[in-house]
Amino acid sequence: MKKESITLNGIPAAPGITIGKAYMVDSEEINVAKCRIKQEDIPKEITRFKVALLRTKKEILAIKEKISKEMGVEHGEIFSAHLLVLEDIMLIDEVIVRLKKEKVCVEAVFLDVIKKYISAFLKIDDEYLRERISDISDVGKRILKNLTGAKKSTLSGLTRPVVVVAYDLSPSDTATMHKKNVIGFVTDIGGRTSHTAIMAKSLEIPAVVGLEEITRKTKNGDTLIVDGIRGVVIVNPDKATVRKYEAEKKRFQSFEKDLAPLKGLPSETKDGHKVVLSANIELPEEIPSLKHHGAEGIGLYRTEYFYMNRADLPSEEVQYRSYKFVAEKTKPHFTIIRTLDLGGDKFLSHLEMPREMNPYLGWRAIRFCLARPSIFKNQLRAILRASAYGKLKIMYPMISGLEELKQANSILEEARQDLRKNKIPFDEKMEVGAMIEVPSAALTSDILANEVDFFSIGTNDLIQYALAVDRVNEKIAYLYEPAHPAVLRLIKSVIDNGHSKGIWVGMCGEMAGVPSLALILLGLGLDEFSTSPIVLPEIKRVIRSVTLDEAKKIAHKALTLSTGREVQEYVDSKLKELVPEFAIRVK
Ligand code: PEP
Ligand code: MG
Repeated sequence: MKKESITLNGIPAAPGITIGKAYMVDSEEINVAKCRIKQEDIPKEITRFKVALLRTKKEILAIKEKISKEMGVEHGEIFSAHLLVLEDIMLIDEVIVRLKKEKVCVEAVFLDVIKKYISAFLKIDDEYLRERISDISDVGKRILKNLTGAKKSTLSGLTRPVVVVAYDLSPSDTATMHKKNVIGFVTDIGGRTSHTAIMAKSLEIPAVVGLEEITRKTKNGDTLIVDGIRGVVIVNPDKATVRKYEAEKKRFQSFEKDLAPLKGLPSETKDGHKVVLSANIELPEEIPSLKHHGAEGIGLYRTEYFYMNRADLPSEEVQYRSYKFVAEKTKPHFTIIRTLDLGGDKFLSHLEMPREMNPYLGWRAIRFCLARPSIFKNQLRAILRASAYGKLKIMYPMISGLEELKQANSILEEARQDLRKNKIPFDEKMEVGAMIEVPSAALTSDILANEVDFFSIGTNDLIQYALAVDRVNEKIAYLYEPAHPAVLRLIKSVIDNGHSKGIWVGMCGEMAGVPSLALILLGLGLDEFSTSPIVLPEIKRVIRSVTLDEAKKIAHKALTLSTGREVQEYVDSKLKELVPEFAIRVK
């Protein structure tokens, strides 16, 4: 039977077009080893089982509440059936009785019991009861995950190229994903600057996020077209559509190929005004791609990924070795290492961090580091030590005012003193910068500029805070406008304040990688554009197609417009006029 074709619109997260088979992240089997236990371990195993049941119950109740609120009570009721499975006394008793008798770990017993239940239900000649199999299997998987601590997905173990389909992917999921076998990914939730989207770009995998119901509309093995340029996903396309997208894919690839020769050319305007083009990276493994895309260094090394995917905090020594590697590899160019930016949508499983109502406004980034000075100082010492081997700079995330900045600097000074005392070499002149990503910092940037050597504007957060728009919420993604006059005014004042105090100003938010907006940023006087390596050639192409004066005029005109949409339309038309081949990148 011919499968129905469905088109879904989401948010483009990483450019490119891909056609492939769907791989549903949550439909994976969980493997369980049958390990023996001792008689005295039985009570511990029973407690583990009970804790897993409780955790699962909490998870299901939360999902039920969310679905009932968003889709109606009748949809939420589906999860009542899940709760019934969870409270099935016969099932629970059977696990405990067998556990005591067979003396094997509880996950192995539980898996066996669940399988037995499923095969018994399969034999029942009653459609309603047979439908309960999926409930039992769903709940069973949840309990097993809670028992084994299994990560939601095993994306590192894929053996064939697939398009990953998920409700969401955690940063650690994307960090462990093997690029070779993931040719695209699509998610229900997330916005343009969610970390899932940022990772997609850094891995150079076409991606669309915020599709809302892709996991409900797709099954394992369905054919998917992912258009990461326009944010469209087509499930089970017909042959004509596949042909159309194959042609589109070729066009995009040749557009990218045409940009490749730019990598050896300077990033300067037609009249010779130079700007620095550097890259944002999450993992040191990305360094080889910098050269390939013509980056002059690293404008943002997000160190938190280094803290993820491990059972404990990385020691100073482990960090030092990694930062030293990065410093040596990027020499003679600079690398800006951003200190730990946890919180928001980045968490560590092994660090006790309280659940917060507003995590983006909560105990995150520099706030967390100042409250945990030993963790912070460990990282600072590691960076300082590595600075002896290359051109490192350091910057603090989420600075919101002068006191925070001074506090961070004084802990940095303590770290320097430690090293001096112990005669450990480091770069005494290493530049220190502040990320400007909180409106209060942007508005007081004239004051903050006295304490640092540079600013790097973090528009991903600056936009969400200035416009009060959660950067990962797809429902309000239409309000997340980098071209909003409020955002442009903030950026202008940061650049002007920085320059009047004699410091340089860069940008490491995703906005720096949007070709049309690069025209404005250039005109406002931005000194450095740091963005995902994959879009750097496009930004260079834009910079090389105008004079500084032309860019200034564009920025000036943009600042007179009243809405984000007007600004965006204006710069889109300017971009098409100046660089006609960019029509493919402008919606
Ligand atoms: C930003 O906020 O713009 C930024 C670069 O930091 P992150 O995306 O890691 O929050
Ligand atoms: Mg940020």
